Amino acid sequence: MKRILSIPLLLAACSPAAWAFLRLEAPSGAAVEITARALQPGEMLLAVFYPSGEGQEAKLSFLDKDYDFLPGGPSGRRFALVGVDFLTPPGSYKVEVVILDAGRKEAVQKYLRLQERSFSRQNIKIDERLVIAPPEAEERLARERRILAEVYRSVIPEWLGSGGFAAPLPDKPSPNFGEHRLYNGVPRSRHTGVDISAAQDSPIWASNSGRVALAMDLYYSGLTVIIDHGLNIFTVYCHCSRLDVQEGQSVGRNAVIAAVGSTGRSTGSHLHWSVRARGARVDPLSLLSLGLE
Ligand SMILES: [Zn+2]
Repeated sequence: MKRILSIPLLLAACSPAAWAFLRLEAPSGAAVEITARALQPGEMLLAVFYPSGEGQEAKLSFLDKDYDFLPGGPSGRRFALVGVDFLTPPGSYKVEVVILDAGRKEAVQKYLRLQERSFSRQNIKIDERLVIAPPEAEERLARERRILAEVYRSVIPEWLGSGGFAAPLPDKPSPNFGEHRLYNGVPRSRHTGVDISAAQDSPIWASNSGRVALAMDLYYSGLTVIIDHGLNIFTVYCHCSRLDVQEGQSVGRNAVIAAVGSTGRSTGSHLHWSVRARGARVDPLSLLSLGLE
């Protein structure tokens, strides 16, 4: 009997669907619950506020960033999305929650342990001349870096999303987030998104509602759409064959924003999908089934 029981427990511990959970409860009974697919670098964490009385506010601090709890979370609760950059070293990090209640202040702290995460490696054999951009592209690349920096600086102080994040394509994504990319055996870069192979011109859906922050042709990522979901959280869609939206436009979740292509530095028809959450590069797959619905 003991052996039979141990099998599902072992599966639960190993399955990627195993969910992490941390509850920080103040003496007043107000609490913040943090859930995530895993407590690892490159994951998005969902923090939900459970007040114990009227008029309470909460703030969360983690990895040198402060988070407010805003409306729009699960069951109408206030929430915060906390991205853990994929280069954060594994280890224990302090989470602090401060509950503000009519001038009274309660603080509760716990340590969150980020587990080790192994990232895949891929060696790409490529013509050396294609690895480094030609000098004539430098000016264009510098301009694009400035444009992207400006997009990612924007902070809309409210949540523009509606419910949870959805996959932008029905096709199966490669679990290649954070992959070490070696070109001709030399480590050159990390892959900060996931690739989803799909037929040329397949429609790409907005993962969540928001505002189109960028819709243009970029040197490396080709025809690219960036959606600003508010709170400095962005989803990015690259190598498109066409763009169906314009900058400044509001889009709903699952709206068609572009089509799958192979523009920019790409070797075949696919979507490179990535996420920026207050500067943290997180695995887009960690946003799916976050429990935001
Ligand atoms: Zn990619």
